[in-house]
Amino acid sequence: MMDWNPWHGCRKISEGCLNCTVFGRNERYRGDGTRVETTKDFHLPVMRRKNMVFKLVSLDNPIYVCLTSDFFIEDADKWRDYAWNIFRYRKDLQFRIITKRVERIEQCLPKNWGPGYMNVTLVCSCENQKRTDERVPILLDLPFQRKEILHEPMLESIEIERYLESGEIAAVTCGGEYGKDVRICKYDWILHTREQCLKHNVEFRFKQTGSKFIKNKRMYRIERNLQESQAQKANIDFVPEKEDDGTTPFDSPLLQCSKSPYRSSLRLSQEEIAYYEKRGFDGIRREAFDIIRANIAPAYIKNDGRQTPDSGHPIYVSQHATASCCRKCIQKHHQIPSGRKMTETEVNYIVDLNMEWLKRYFFHGGNGFKRIKEPY
Ligand code: SF4
Repeated sequence: MMDWNPWHGCRKISEGCLNCTVFGRNERYRGDGTRVETTKDFHLPVMRRKNMVFKLVSLDNPIYVCLTSDFFIEDADKWRDYAWNIFRYRKDLQFRIITKRVERIEQCLPKNWGPGYMNVTLVCSCENQKRTDERVPILLDLPFQRKEILHEPMLESIEIERYLESGEIAAVTCGGEYGKDVRICKYDWILHTREQCLKHNVEFRFKQTGSKFIKNKRMYRIERNLQESQAQKANIDFVPEKEDDGTTPFDSPLLQCSKSPYRSSLRLSQEEIAYYEKRGFDGIRREAFDIIRANIAPAYIKNDGRQTPDSGHPIYVSQHATASCCRKCIQKHHQIPSGRKMTETEVNYIVDLNMEWLKRYFFHGGNGFKRIKEPY
């Protein structure tokens, strides 16, 4: 599991916080777990190694944000805009925010939030029925692309059917409490949540047993390092069948291009990476439209075949990699005839193809052809 903890410290707000390990960890290291401070990892998602590849790279798994605090705690209001900008900038990563402070979210969203950034999942943590009934109705009304419920530590059997019925909840995760003097978790509670998820075709995950786990009226004390594997052994996770298998229109053309030794050998220079970083995904996309409209889309191109330089702009490189550098290549690899002006739909396709290659390139640390698997 990968995480990004831009700030440390929290305050307990409900029953689930009683034995919060974050709090204990902070007390151990700094003496006061309630003092909220930025960490040395504050800038981690935008930091790069010497070879210019991001330090924070995740192939298939999401990045958990603020596991040593609550992302929406008041003390962090002054830093949160920076974090929103990071989410926008690192579109190649999937971020998951777990919070108990859902009532603060609406006032904390950035101006450009709209229906929610595609790469941000909100996970509402609710440990018992009372907190579930307080928090989940708020969660349902919030604009997020993906919303989940987390019962961890699960403190009792919880009814969530009326919330699952809304179709707004994508997944539910359950787990026990871990530590020394912790509360019990019953397998029956976990199974009851699973039943509700199955009934409404919602993804379900049993994450870990906790330290005191009761199954068939018998209590098991389970070591921390075995709690996840014991939960996995129960083999009760449920993933609904997807109507969409996650393929994109670019998978097939990119796979074909990857077979060319020339195209698959292309790499961005440090200057091109720095330029991409400076302009951001949206800025590069706008420039891609300009380049494609000027050099590729016209009906007649005097120097067709030689109009795209080998380097100097990330899009020039991606054009060669994706066989969209001239109309001859486009006709051959993408079945768009030359000799006529490209339609807006065709221009959009070529731009999106290039942006997809760049997105994969940064996601996979230099391989623009490998598919990005769904992280869930
Ligand atoms: S809100 Fe979360 S991080 Fe904060 S004290 Fe409670 S359990 Fe710990």
